[in-house]
Amino acid sequence: MITIVGAGVHGLSLAYHLIRKGINDITIVEAVRVGYGSSGRNLARFRLNFNDENNVKFAREAIQYMWKARKKLNLNPMIYKAGYLWLLKKEKDISNFRRLDVMWKTYEVKGGFIECKDFRYINFEGECYFSPESGAFHHDYLTYGIYDKIKDVAKFVYGNVTGINVRSGKVASIRVNSTDLETEKLIVTAGAWTPRLLSPIGVNLPITPVRKEAYITEDIEFRIKPLIIDAESGVSFSQTLKGEIIGGGPEEKEGYVEFSTSFFHMLNFLRTVKKIVNGLHNIGVLRSWSGYYEMTPDRSHIMGYDSSWPENLFVDAGYSGHGMMFGLYSGKLMSDLVADNTASEFIRIFGPSRFNEGRLLAESMVI
Ligand SMILES: Cc1cc2nc3c(=O)[nH]c(=O)nc-3n(C[C@H](O)[C@H](O)[C@H](O)COP(=O)(O)OP(=O)(O)OC[C@H]3O[C@@H](n4cnc5c(N)ncnc54)[C@H](O)[C@@H]3O)c2cc1C
Repeated sequence: MITIVGAGVHGLSLAYHLIRKGINDITIVEAVRVGYGSSGRNLARFRLNFNDENNVKFAREAIQYMWKARKKLNLNPMIYKAGYLWLLKKEKDISNFRRLDVMWKTYEVKGGFIECKDFRYINFEGECYFSPESGAFHHDYLTYGIYDKIKDVAKFVYGNVTGINVRSGKVASIRVNSTDLETEKLIVTAGAWTPRLLSPIGVNLPITPVRKEAYITEDIEFRIKPLIIDAESGVSFSQTLKGEIIGGGPEEKEGYVEFSTSFFHMLNFLRTVKKIVNGLHNIGVLRSWSGYYEMTPDRSHIMGYDSSWPENLFVDAGYSGHGMMFGLYSGKLMSDLVADNTASEFIRIFGPSRFNEGRLLAESMVI
């Protein structure tokens, strides 16, 4: 029996790929509900632009996998290209993008500096960098699309996992709803809550929950196609296909803080958007919400296991602010590891051992 903790996109995708391999004895334990964590709270954007080459390569594979999902997996994540547009003012940011542009070109990532005035609706004095291959998808189509495919095969148990029992160096069972659930393999895909679950058994993962706020306005005439990232203010926003402006600001709060939002931060967000986009007047916010980014020291995810851990324990977590776009693909890689003991090169690169071995990645591009 294989047990997965967490019914976010990562846990669901892993279960789906295991089922595709013919493994049906799977239990998914979820504390609240499918998509309760960041998988139900994100902005569903994807990009190839990262600081670290390994993340560029991983993103390339993950995004291609999502593009092919409709044909290959009969899943429709509603993916589309819209571009990312960075607004850069500070010399430090501009020279950083000049350096990154050279690296991105070696990986055939399209994009470059363009005239800001090409985007006529934007009011910005500075340098603009455009990445046309980036875009958006629909997180609910992905998460619940996968859920729909596995709900009659995998067993879903709703309850908080409160403990992991280890016998003779192996994971034997987990404690949920005051009972012990025996398992042969345990994969923890509990997002920001992953370190809290694992630290009692001596598995200490450097993942810090950081709460981020997000907002969506009423729909207006469609103009803003790319995700606009204002480097100076830290505000990023775009428009949904329906016409709502969706985005977030730079505010962060560390720890397992409540999922609230602040009226003051929302006003700051709106003010910045109105300053950048010409002709926006009274736009009403329909909804605000928050969720956790799961920050690691090198802003890159953790997948696989470490030889010092109890046997048969695996992790797939710590995706900072970009784990939705990686979710489908990581489930595929994790299923190869868990079912076939086949570790892709990425499992070594993004494995937990890197923190003790001093092999940190050079990532800092968290939007
Ligand atoms: C505001 C915001 C914007 C974002 N924007 C983007 C974006 O544009 N693009 C992108 O790619 N990514 C984005 N992300 C990041 C992305 O959403 C996450 O990286 C991704 O959803 C993580 O998925 P997951 O399955 O690992 O974790 P989660 O979706 O967090 O799922 C973990 C699940 O585990 C459950 N759980 C936790 N502890 C226990 C326990 N003890 N017992 C049982 N169950 C437990 C939780 O209830 C939860 O359902 C954003 C995140 C936020 C917060």
